[in-house]
Amino acid sequence: MAQQFDVVVIGSGPGGYVAAIKAAQLGLKTAIVEKWLTKDEKPSYGGTCLNVGCIPSKALLESSEKFHEAQHDFELHGIGLKDLKVDVKAMVKRKEDIVGKLTGGVAGLLKGNGVTAFEGKGMLKANKVVEVTLHDGKTETLEGKNVILATGSIPIEIPPTPTNGDTIVDSEGALEFSSVPKRLGVIGAGVIGLELGSVWKRLGSEVVVLEAMDTFLPAADQAIAKDAFKFFTKKAGLDVRLGARVTGSEVKKNKVEVTFEDSEGEKKETFDKLIVAVGRRPYTEGCLDKGCGVSLDERGFVQVDDQCRSTVPGVYAIGDVVRGPMLAHKGSEEGIMVAEIIAGHNAQMNYDTIPNVIYTHPEIAWVGKTEEQLKSDGADYKVGSFSMAAIGRAMAQNATDGQVKIIADAKTDRILGMHIFASGASEMIAQGVIAMEFASSAEDLQLTCFAHPTNSEAVHEAALAVDNMAIHKVNRKKR
Ligand code: FAD
Ligand code: NAD
Repeated sequence: MAQQFDVVVIGSGPGGYVAAIKAAQLGLKTAIVEKWLTKDEKPSYGGTCLNVGCIPSKALLESSEKFHEAQHDFELHGIGLKDLKVDVKAMVKRKEDIVGKLTGGVAGLLKGNGVTAFEGKGMLKANKVVEVTLHDGKTETLEGKNVILATGSIPIEIPPTPTNGDTIVDSEGALEFSSVPKRLGVIGAGVIGLELGSVWKRLGSEVVVLEAMDTFLPAADQAIAKDAFKFFTKKAGLDVRLGARVTGSEVKKNKVEVTFEDSEGEKKETFDKLIVAVGRRPYTEGCLDKGCGVSLDERGFVQVDDQCRSTVPGVYAIGDVVRGPMLAHKGSEEGIMVAEIIAGHNAQMNYDTIPNVIYTHPEIAWVGKTEEQLKSDGADYKVGSFSMAAIGRAMAQNATDGQVKIIADAKTDRILGMHIFASGASEMIAQGVIAMEFASSAEDLQLTCFAHPTNSEAVHEAALAVDNMAIHKVNRKKR
């Protein structure tokens, strides 16, 4: 006999668990199905983000940045340290403790909100029936008036560098090295390559990043990308090789030899560890029974409309398994929207104000359109930027690299994009998100009082610079 629910959610990542909690809060009888098992075979909630993604990577980024500061910056502050060393095992344990707290917290939140959890693999069949194969092999049949697919994504593997869980790893393996690799290769100068490459570089690895494309961070505003590239290669010591296409690899005596081609021809590099970070793909394996009726697009994403409705009425899909940026907060917002739609509300999401952050040091963050996109749209726009080098707080923090750039519509003055390369950019970008969500003009930011001394004063100055009115720099353009 099938158990009846108003909503059955498959997957408990930031998309699924947020959708389930919201649905329960809205009075819907809600179930969630999650198959994740930790290395010691314990069920865990929170998906990629909490278990092996956003949270563990940020824990290691924080630890490695502290070590780097202690090694390079403390002396400048007049602080002397002797016998500085890294205990990678302790760092990894701290990361695992944080993961444990958060994943346990999600389990508690689901329970506290009255969501019924099923620990096992869910498969959607016809008529919104979800069959769950529990971890002990037993099965449960659930019937949902509505079903939300939130099964996430997995790393893309490429034939030249098959992962082996030892010398060649994906992002998950790169969060678990037990010592600092002497020479580390990274394939892909995307978000994961830059973040995890930075972690191990700061801890002492010599890091070479091989990137197939000739352009660095093509999705970012290129003024910011250029600044960041210069910093990462000249100051942070990452050896980023653009236009380097990997063609093969060979594991020899615990090392891996990578073959790649660039404009000069074929080359080889040998590494102690190799991280493959060439993107992620939607994950639906074993989740969609043939008769379920849900269509996938040509790239394997579940086909949905603007409000995450799949091709089957009453079946929705959210997060990494559908189109759009693969970001935790995007999945969570879609989860909230879908729960509200199911509860009968008219909910919509603004995909134009989703922030992007790369948690390097300094951080890269942006919201809205880049100058390159506006140029190719033929838009009439104006730009203001302000360097962190002129910000007093940044000087006090020894964090004067980078800039804030704001783009506004030339006629309406409405903010079209904010782009930041700066220490703390991940927090500063929220100002751009809120401004754009409230359809603010550059003038709205110009007329706002910013606390002094803060790095956010660069946001104020960049807004002023949009109309050549910056106070703490000489405006080059005539008003
Ligand atoms: P997921 O988090 O992938 O969760 C899907 C869940 O569904 C999993 O728990 C899986 O076990 C479960 N599942 C799948 N199929 C079934 C089934 N048939 N039955 C039961 N359960 C199933 N994003 C950010 O916004 N900020 C960051 O800083 C960030 N850092 C990242 C760092 C790394 C190293 C990685 C790999 C990713 C990072 N991301 C980050 C991306 C982020 O993790 C994803 O965008 C996010 O996890 C997607 O959420 P989701 O709910 O769609 O899917
Ligand atoms: P990505 O798409 O950001 O970068 C992959 C890079 O690999 C690209 O630059 C691509 O040109 C390059 N590449 C592809 N094939 C290659 C090859 N054969 N040789 C050399 N280079 C190659 O993907 P990612 O870094 O793996 O991250 C996956 C997803 O996870 C991202 O889309 C992102 O949304 C999400 N994520 C987000 C965060 C964050 O928000 N801070 C952090 C980590 C991951």
